[in-house]
Amino acid sequence: MSTGTRTRTQVAIVGSGPAGLLLGQLLHQAGIDAIIVERHSAEYVLGRIRAGVLEQGTVEVLDRLGVSSRLHAEGSIHEGVEIGFRGRRHRIPLKTLVGKAVTVYGQTEITRDLMEARAACGATAVYEAVDVELHDWAGISPKISYRRHGVAYEIACDFIAGCDGYHGVSRRSIPPPALNIFERVYPFGWLGVLADVPPPWQELIYANSERGFALASLRSPTRVRCYVQCSLDDRVDDWSDARFWDEFRRRIGEEIADRVIAAPSIEKSIAPLRSFVVEPLRYGRLFLAGDAAHIVPPTGAKGLNLAVSDVFYLHEALRDFYRERSERPLEEYSERCLRRIWKAERFSWWMTRQLHRFPGDAFAARMQETELEYLFESIAAQTSMAENYVGLPFGPSTDSLRTHAAA
Ligand SMILES: Cc1cc2nc3c(=O)[nH]c(=O)nc-3n(C[C@H](O)[C@H](O)[C@H](O)COP(=O)(O)OP(=O)(O)OC[C@H]3O[C@@H](n4cnc5c(N)ncnc54)[C@H](O)[C@@H]3O)c2cc1C
Repeated sequence: MSTGTRTRTQVAIVGSGPAGLLLGQLLHQAGIDAIIVERHSAEYVLGRIRAGVLEQGTVEVLDRLGVSSRLHAEGSIHEGVEIGFRGRRHRIPLKTLVGKAVTVYGQTEITRDLMEARAACGATAVYEAVDVELHDWAGISPKISYRRHGVAYEIACDFIAGCDGYHGVSRRSIPPPALNIFERVYPFGWLGVLADVPPPWQELIYANSERGFALASLRSPTRVRCYVQCSLDDRVDDWSDARFWDEFRRRIGEEIADRVIAAPSIEKSIAPLRSFVVEPLRYGRLFLAGDAAHIVPPTGAKGLNLAVSDVFYLHEALRDFYRERSERPLEEYSERCLRRIWKAERFSWWMTRQLHRFPGDAFAARMQETELEYLFESIAAQTSMAENYVGLPFGPSTDSLRTHAAA
């Protein structure tokens, strides 16, 4: 193996998912130099089908970066969301209740927009970097090393941002005794299908049926994304398209079922459901952000949005460090993130608990029915759900509130 170059940057970012790419652009806008190192090719990263519901705060961050023109042209604004239960659909009018809406725009599209913005400003992103390792992050001269096409590279930096997802190397580089892990694994998964067909629904429908949960979602006026709760033992090959659509129709409610077109899938995958948080998010000069630090079950549509608030806080802390040589914002990073993370974990856990079937727990089933009845009857309960679904606030406005409160 030959030895490649040694480079230096201010912030080395591991991972080119939404967290890493967004942090890269936020730092670029703040005049801070960063290099992104990603294990896979750019095409592979763009091929992953994941989140689609964006909180208003997420859209505002993308607006500030000037990377949202396609989002506003192609994304759709949803002012409400529906919950199906016992054959009836109940609408939660988000906008009416809390004055905010969500935007449906695929994670893949955000990733593409951020990659293009990064290329346009000439910032470095290294793809297909294998054997990424983190060094000396507990001291003041951290480094990362990797190999690319058989050549070894090293990047010296001031800080490392671990944005490499749940299976990445960053969290695994920290000695286990230093990590506080909180975890809940759910006894089912989500089978998701993407299909090119106009959706016969205008807003997302979360259905709790006797056969299990189903979600009717969409990515564009011509593309649907639908899910059914499935067994953790199921494999994608067990589910033909015909079987998936048949099951989806049985769960989503009669009125919609009659209008569902069993289109061929263009992507089909099974995701296990998990709640996971690691504390703290800072280890010396290594900072964790996004899925590297936490996982939520997708029921609350919070995973991508939490990655955005983490890196927003991280870029502010790094900006203040370089501007004012103050360590304080870096010291506060973990606590600021965790306050928001735990609220999103609570909401995602609550949505999951109310909408899925948990076999063999009769008490939990009664509690679920009672909780949903209360939700449909109570404006206060709907407002609470709406407030969380559109996303709790973060960003400069929240910070100035905090500063005023402290003064
Ligand atoms: C199957 C699936 C479906 C999902 N559906 C939804 C949804 O419907 N709604 C929702 O809100 N959220 C959903 N999520 C969650 C959401 O997609 C994530 O929260 C979001 O992608 C987090 O972004 P991230 O940048 O932190 O991590 P990731 O998107 O995981 O990006 C991490 C990046 O780091 C790279 N990487 C990993 N290891 C290394 C390494 N050793 N060296 C270098 N690079 C590395 C990875 O290749 C990847 O590109 C889903 C997640 C999954 C896995």
